[in-house]
Amino acid sequence: MPKLNKEIYDVAIIGTGPAGLTAAIYASRADLSVVMFEGSLPGGQLTQTSEVENYPGFREGVNGFMLIDDMRHQALRFGAEIHFAIVTEVELEGRPYTVTLDDGTTFEARTLVVASGARPRKLGLESETLFWGAGVSSCATCDGAFFRDREVAVIGGGDSAMEEATFLTKFASKVTIIHRRDDLRASAIMQKRAMDNPKVEFLWSHEVVDIYGEAEGRVKDVKGLKVKDRKTGEVRDFPVDGLFLGIGHIPNTDLFTGKLDTDDEGYLVTAPDSTQTSVPGVFAVGDVQDKVFRQAITAAGTGCMGALEAERFLADLEDEEAAAAQ
Ligand code: NAP
Repeated sequence: MPKLNKEIYDVAIIGTGPAGLTAAIYASRADLSVVMFEGSLPGGQLTQTSEVENYPGFREGVNGFMLIDDMRHQALRFGAEIHFAIVTEVELEGRPYTVTLDDGTTFEARTLVVASGARPRKLGLESETLFWGAGVSSCATCDGAFFRDREVAVIGGGDSAMEEATFLTKFASKVTIIHRRDDLRASAIMQKRAMDNPKVEFLWSHEVVDIYGEAEGRVKDVKGLKVKDRKTGEVRDFPVDGLFLGIGHIPNTDLFTGKLDTDDEGYLVTAPDSTQTSVPGVFAVGDVQDKVFRQAITAAGTGCMGALEAERFLADLEDEEAAAAQ
């Protein structure tokens, strides 16, 4: 059970990726009382990647886990409280807001910064669930080493798929990128890196319609995929030892259903040039509100914005309360 130091905080931050941690650094450095929660993936998606080469300030690149760990310690240094807990409910009717944690603990917060991020999209196949973690994965950094000298496939045509595929060539003997169209949406540099890699092949205009293998009791082993040619409709076997998904993300907004406005794809909607959500004093930062850039640096940037806006909101609130008391 997390031991909270206060019953009411200036800022409660949900999520500890680069967006949440940057918000924590700025808000705690502004002398606000800050509490934050790790959620189900402490440190967020960056802890699942390998080398981050495009975060400014690291001329040789930086390990994703180390980058998050440094941000975490930077936030702790200014007094932010970071707890291993999952937020199960937020009550946004009336201020301060009430937050409930998975062990039933409740506390209040004058402002909320939602930095709950996004999770990998899945295909939605029954066989995907059956072989998940046993041949099917969405994290090459986590599971790639299991496929040394074996053949794997990666689904997707964006940067994630190119990155996963290129990373997997460290281990796998062959990596096939299966894309549903014949045109990639990945950035030119990521495409080139994958295409120039002699271990990478492409299967264009195909979709994976099933995954087959052995699944006796707890022993599971992927043997291959059923792939469908989207131009001819033909379905055939495609033998591989493993499958990695690189097909995008879904924002983690379940906590806020019916409470905060979302767009058609479920991303939290914020005011133009702002992190302000549809509820005053609730700010959304990072991947939970960004379906365009989704970079660690843009997440950190919006985290900073969220903290500055929370600080301004609290100052205005204080002015209003002082005026009302006169
Ligand atoms: P994305 O750009 O949305 O690409 C998702 C890919 O998956 C698309 O090619 C899409 O096909 C395909 N797809 C989606 N649903 C599918 C399904 N059900 N079955 C088969 N294919 C499906 O997502 P992303 O690659 O995760 O990238 C997201 C953002 O993060 C981008 O802005 C990207 O630049 C950034 N990113 C950057 C880096 C880096 O710079 N190191 C690394 C990873 C991601 P269609 O093309 O046909 O829609």
